[in-house]
Amino acid sequence: MLQPNRRPPIVIAIDGTSASGKSTNSKLVAKALGFVHVDTGAMYRTLAWYCLQQRIDVQNAKAVAAACRRWKTALKCSDGHAYLVVDGYYPAQEIRTAEVSGAVSHVATVPKVRDWMKRKQRECIQFGNLVMEGRDIGTNVFPETDFKYYLDAKLEERSRRRAADGIQENLAARDQRDSQRAAAPLMIALGARVINNSQMTSEQTSGTILADIRKRLADAEKARGR
Ligand code: C5P
Repeated sequence: MLQPNRRPPIVIAIDGTSASGKSTNSKLVAKALGFVHVDTGAMYRTLAWYCLQQRIDVQNAKAVAAACRRWKTALKCSDGHAYLVVDGYYPAQEIRTAEVSGAVSHVATVPKVRDWMKRKQRECIQFGNLVMEGRDIGTNVFPETDFKYYLDAKLEERSRRRAADGIQENLAARDQRDSQRAAAPLMIALGARVINNSQMTSEQTSGTILADIRKRLADAEKARGR
């Protein structure tokens, strides 16, 4: 029997430096479009938290890869967000501590971890259209998507934003580890629209992204109708 032509889900990739507004803006964009929001940083943080819990040295790549092989996880989707649970639990508060922030970019350098994460992140397509935020979504996880955005802001502004959230962190050190690792480093994807939002509100940043997405979707619709 002939199946009706079903379009594959749309993926909006939002990458960028730490505290560049990825989370706030991805959530705003996902909400406005009715897409599922996926915070891939939270997945890496969940593994870092798990390693700390299990007293695994996060700088020991072999031990971290082994932990990633054996932990018991599942993908869940509720209230428009997809996330990873470990033994049925989502450590929402625990993954935001300074200890986890200090550990996470170490576990994220391990190639076996990145392969595992990429597989899980691609599985999120089962939940429908996605807004996925991270460091390598446009370059590595969904390189085929036409919707790629890269957010950045001046370091002083990003540090100010983190401090306003009550978090003191060496963002420059984490950015450096994320940009210099060998496997899927943070970089601007080919064709990504770069938005420096140092002087912009989140309404302006998400508004810029939304206007661009809507225009491209309308253009694609027109082209199909021709
Ligand atoms: O976005 P967030 O700051 O929560 O990400 C935490 C860390 O997870 C990043 O500093 C980076 O080391 C890692 N990460 C990554 N690739 C992603 C998302 C996050 O390496 N796609």
